[in-house]
Amino acid sequence: MSLNKKSVDDINVKGKRVLCRCDFNVPLKEGKITDENRLVAALPTIKKLIADGGRVILCSHLGKPKGEPKPELSLAPVAARLSELLGQEVKFAADPEVVGPNAKAAVEAMQDGDVILLENTRYRVEETKNGEAFSKELASLCDVFVNDAFGTAHRAHCSNVGVAQLVDTAVVGYLMQKEIDFLGNAVENPVRPFVAILGGAKVADKLNVISNLLEKCDTLIIGGGMAYTFLKAKGYETGTSLVDEEKIGYCKEMMEKAEKLGKTLLLPVDTTVADAFPTPIDAEISVEVCASNAIAADKMGLDIGTKTAEAYAQAVKSAKTVVWNGPMGVFENPILAKGTIAVAKALAETDATTIIGGGDSAAAVNQLGFGDKMSHISTGGGASLEFLEGKELPGVAAANDK
Ligand code: ATP
Repeated sequence: MSLNKKSVDDINVKGKRVLCRCDFNVPLKEGKITDENRLVAALPTIKKLIADGGRVILCSHLGKPKGEPKPELSLAPVAARLSELLGQEVKFAADPEVVGPNAKAAVEAMQDGDVILLENTRYRVEETKNGEAFSKELASLCDVFVNDAFGTAHRAHCSNVGVAQLVDTAVVGYLMQKEIDFLGNAVENPVRPFVAILGGAKVADKLNVISNLLEKCDTLIIGGGMAYTFLKAKGYETGTSLVDEEKIGYCKEMMEKAEKLGKTLLLPVDTTVADAFPTPIDAEISVEVCASNAIAADKMGLDIGTKTAEAYAQAVKSAKTVVWNGPMGVFENPILAKGTIAVAKALAETDATTIIGGGDSAAAVNQLGFGDKMSHISTGGGASLEFLEGKELPGVAAANDK
């Protein structure tokens, strides 16, 4: 996949109508935005387009209205908050059809440097099917298309792929560019040694990621719930730990693949166990640490052990590039968060390029206060995983090459 994409720095938008696909899929509670990180992250591209004299038409999806107007999923609160963040009016083009008479009139009335926001693109049933009619309507509103929504880049929808294919100029915004630079370069052209750390609940969720990263990295570190299927594949007793019986063969294959490729595959040498999964998840829980080959039949592994945490931190220390996706244990519980904290800390302390692959790992890193110590925290969980799988992302592919 070509990652050499034209960006907002490569075009002239003066006097042009620019449709900019953002990721404004923010959490809302009673009409109030409870986390505005995604809005703040979108500002650099929007400001650039305003400064260059474009007529900036913003669009995004929000939640899953399933193809019909749902007032509680209107983007109106986003327009209000964006106006404050930008210090200039972001006119909300309220329109149940998204590109209906209201939206068209609002675009018609725009001056250079004005900003409007269209209604939730998923009010339209065609959006998630990449249906031509809606793509054409979006394309009719603009001269130039900018995609800055990495979170949906792994999906081919009207507002990120369909419309891009119908306009002459389709480029990426700064946020998207940053994701491509970090995730793309880390996987395709890493400064070595390249250490990849994978955790999270299930092996099955990350089959292609494990296989692809083994080929690209020097050391692959496995933690979290997925480690126990590997331990079982080594013939160890894993007690009542999370094991995917159907993927034991796959884990054996991956261990053989690592050996054949001369890659280091690190598995937990010890593990933190308890009698059962904590309920509620943050309940006080009694734990002990045992060697990974000495898990009792009635125990459940819920975090990597202390020696493993040290070994993983050591491996991170010697790296020049580190990619991390998925927690090392049930980090939602403070007693079972130690492994995840140790890895986060090691990443925070290294000079290596550190990349967090979105989702739970991003939440963990931010929650622990290490967010600003990382080189890059991806804004897209699913999209970043597909990048790590080596897949072509439709939202990236649709942008013009340089
Ligand atoms: P992303 O980072 O892309 O969101 P993820 O890998 O973090 O994906 P999941 O695969 O859902 O997301 O894994 C996270 C969950 O795995 C956490 O809720 C965590 O509690 C759980 N988990 C981690 N270790 C274990 C374990 N040993 N047993 C059971 N669950 C675990």
